[in-house]
Amino acid sequence: MEAALSAIDFFRQMHGHYRLAIERFQGRAMLLDALLQGAWQRFDENVAVQCEGLPELDCHKGCATCCTLRVTATAPEVFMLARFIRAVSPGLARHGISLRDQVAQANVSTCGRGESDRVVIRQRCPFIAQGACVIYQVRPLACRGLASYDRKACAQAASGKIDQIPYSEPHMRVRSLVQNALQSALRDGGLAWASYELNQSLQMALDDTGLEQRWLQGEDVLRVAQVSEVDEAEMAATFDKLKQVAS
Ligand code: SF4
Repeated sequence: MEAALSAIDFFRQMHGHYRLAIERFQGRAMLLDALLQGAWQRFDENVAVQCEGLPELDCHKGCATCCTLRVTATAPEVFMLARFIRAVSPGLARHGISLRDQVAQANVSTCGRGESDRVVIRQRCPFIAQGACVIYQVRPLACRGLASYDRKACAQAASGKIDQIPYSEPHMRVRSLVQNALQSALRDGGLAWASYELNQSLQMALDDTGLEQRWLQGEDVLRVAQVSEVDEAEMAATFDKLKQVAS
């Protein structure tokens, strides 16, 4: 949210953007672009405003310390990433790289494991190559929302020495608002709106090219990969309350 916008106003603005996109492109493949290009752009713009005057982040290219944590994503993010992987696969295959295989291998280790288990097993994200994220331009909002002021603290936390990381509050706050508004608008539009574990849901989307269209038609096709800690009813009630406050 820009400095002049409250969190509620920003939620309302984002919700309106997504609602219009869903009305315009319901059931069509273009819906993914319409939802996510707006989400990513507004996330970047608002984080930039919110971070004005704050200390510099300590994240840098080549550091993937936090990329062993469980990543969750909404269905549009999962299907957009599956499209991206299909598009880049022929080029990567010439170098002997298969992101599909890497996702499948990671999923063998992570399938069915909760967030705390994932901290223990420290399975690297399948998209890290030489310390960088190879799907950076389409990475989920969950990844965009984690930014640290102290990479030494990240490394210490990763090795279990400390449990507090000085994450950037604006990144986490804006990610939460951008994603919650998206989930609320998906719900209002009759589309599955949960958060899904990335490796499992992505493998499903890569294995079955028809899943995206079925999701666009309103089926909850990724349900088996849904994260279990989130109380859907509670979340839905919060969305309804936010919309009431916002109206
Ligand atoms: S998608 Fe990219 S940023 Fe997110 S955990 Fe994987 S490597 Fe890290």
